Amino acid sequence: MSNLVEIQDLNVNFRTPHGQVHAIRNLNLDIPQNKILGIVGESGSGKSTVIWTITRLLASNAVIESGRILFDGHDILQLEEHELASIRGDKMSVVFQDPMTSQIPVLSYGRQMTDIQHRHRNLKANDKRQNAIDILKRVGIPDPEQRVDQYPHQFSGGMRQRVSIAMALMMDPPLLFADEPTTALDVTMEAQIIHLLRELKVELDATIVLVSHNLGLIAELCDEVAVMYAGEIVEKGSVQQIFYDPVHPYTQALLECDPARVLKQTRLLPIIPGDMPDLHDIAKGCEFAPRCSQSLDLCHLKPPSEHHLKDGQTVRCHLYSDGEMSSRVPLADAQASMPTIGEEALQSNRSHHTVGATLLDVSDLRVRFRTMGGLSALMKAVKDPHVDAVLDASISVRAGETVGLVGESGSGKTTMGRTIQGLIQPHSGSIRFDGLELSGLSEAALKPIRRNISLMFQDPVG
Ligand code: SF4
Repeated sequence: MSNLVEIQDLNVNFRTPHGQVHAIRNLNLDIPQNKILGIVGESGSGKSTVIWTITRLLASNAVIESGRILFDGHDILQLEEHELASIRGDKMSVVFQDPMTSQIPVLSYGRQMTDIQHRHRNLKANDKRQNAIDILKRVGIPDPEQRVDQYPHQFSGGMRQRVSIAMALMMDPPLLFADEPTTALDVTMEAQIIHLLRELKVELDATIVLVSHNLGLIAELCDEVAVMYAGEIVEKGSVQQIFYDPVHPYTQALLECDPARVLKQTRLLPIIPGDMPDLHDIAKGCEFAPRCSQSLDLCHLKPPSEHHLKDGQTVRCHLYSDGEMSSRVPLADAQASMPTIGEEALQSNRSHHTVGATLLDVSDLRVRFRTMGGLSALMKAVKDPHVDAVLDASISVRAGETVGLVGESGSGKTTMGRTIQGLIQPHSGSIRFDGLELSGLSEAALKPIRRNISLMFQDPVG
């Protein structure tokens, strides 16, 4: 098996007002040709920084301290900006987490995809447009001849992510990075993207690096997996080794925290106690030691080195030595020793929790959005140019109660929340909060009430 990319002894820091953050440390990683490599780990483990370093798209405060990244006969870290420009898009491409931050909202997809082909100067505009239509068709966009002229806001979240994949594949690059490609999607859209990536893997025989904290996604799609913690790769192996025979205590803990693996009916999910370390200061010993249930005295004194186990699996942990496993805790035992989420809080919640009187009472709520102007509706003979975003919805929430509202994208969950807060006017129905009818209140009357009804948004930056 040959490698498309070889990363050797990579160290990347970020300069901050509080000193250097050691984001990537002593990283050695091969990306095998025509395989899907998954990089998994908690937020802040350095997964995405690996992608940004390979593509040389790091933030301006990043410092590549040392290392080599060999790709296509070159050390990427030695290339000039104009040389990198010819690699990005043509030879490697990225699918970002949120298409709304990587696509241009004021340009049609046709225009954006034509621009991507700017290096193909010998192609006529019509050919570029046809290429865009072909690739949209390939990723499952229905009616691509019409939709190529539409804009990002006219597509659903899942469809936008399909277009992101189409754009990344536009120049047929041999290496594709997907950075949390389904995180911004709901479960049905996620399933569609997984299905698409699996098809593309078979059809294009592509080399894909998939970064995700979604273990199910990694297990479904990847051939090889690297587990990262605090800027280091702590375990590498085939997807079977990582999911059926994980050896590093962090990998074991990570798998046990996956809600999909919790088979017993429970309200208590396992957690890894403690937090990720502050990477301003490098620990004397193992970075995972304060959270590790199997730590030894040695773990606090000396950083573990990487050991090569059987069949290509590697681990960075003092419990192991090269060749054979010197000691290990079976996954089931690791699971038994793991605490569960909020156990104490939940116990005290159970004993003190009381549910009060009805605080919010929504009945027969209907919210309508206009889909076109009056003149357009007249010309197109559309009788009712509205769509019902929420139709006859009723819900009641008592003080101290937590109510979950669940449904696919576009099912009206967010619209309902915004309408309750008074950000959208309902078409009909009643919204009573603390005994006061809110529907029909003026903006001035709603203002003081909004102090008592808060929205927490999905994306703190968006
Ligand atoms: S080196 Fe020690 S602390 Fe670190 S993961 Fe292994 S056992 Fe745990």
